[in-house]
Amino acid sequence: MTETITANYLGMTLQVDALDNENLAYFGHCARHEFHLQKCDGCGLIRYPVGTGCAWCASGNFTWTPVESKGEVHSYTEVAHAIQPAFKPYVPYHVLVVDLDTQKGAPSVHEALRVFGNLVTPDGVLAPPEMVARVGIGSRVRMVFTDIADGLAIPQWTIDEDAKQSGDVWRYPET
Ligand SMILES: [Zn+2]
Repeated sequence: MTETITANYLGMTLQVDALDNENLAYFGHCARHEFHLQKCDGCGLIRYPVGTGCAWCASGNFTWTPVESKGEVHSYTEVAHAIQPAFKPYVPYHVLVVDLDTQKGAPSVHEALRVFGNLVTPDGVLAPPEMVARVGIGSRVRMVFTDIADGLAIPQWTIDEDAKQSGDVWRYPET
């Protein structure tokens, strides 16, 4: 039987409950630095976030599938005032919503697998201000994992230095 996973991350308690089978499996893959999502056995669509049923066909049957974790920033929030005191040394930091390349434009042209995460350095630490200042809507990013505890890692995003970056990444106008 799988145990509850509990860990501390920058002053927050993170917990995945013993009965939350889907999230235990998801974070189990993340702990091995592998990104797997649920592919519906009914309609074949991959879904995110993790859940018990398919949002499109309601099937409860799925198969964990490795997904290439690269994409483009769909939207972002730049946090200037830390809500959690432990985040204070890291402001400003980014919360990114990233469109994965996998399944982009399906099942309709406006949809994508949109995966949340912070912008981090390649080794998984919240990004410094000069890195935050480079990233906006349209930036190419790749996933990295921040190890939190035994059996728990958080998927995050870093700049994909190997990708061709758009010359006109959109950012909020600076004042
Ligand atoms: Zn389905």
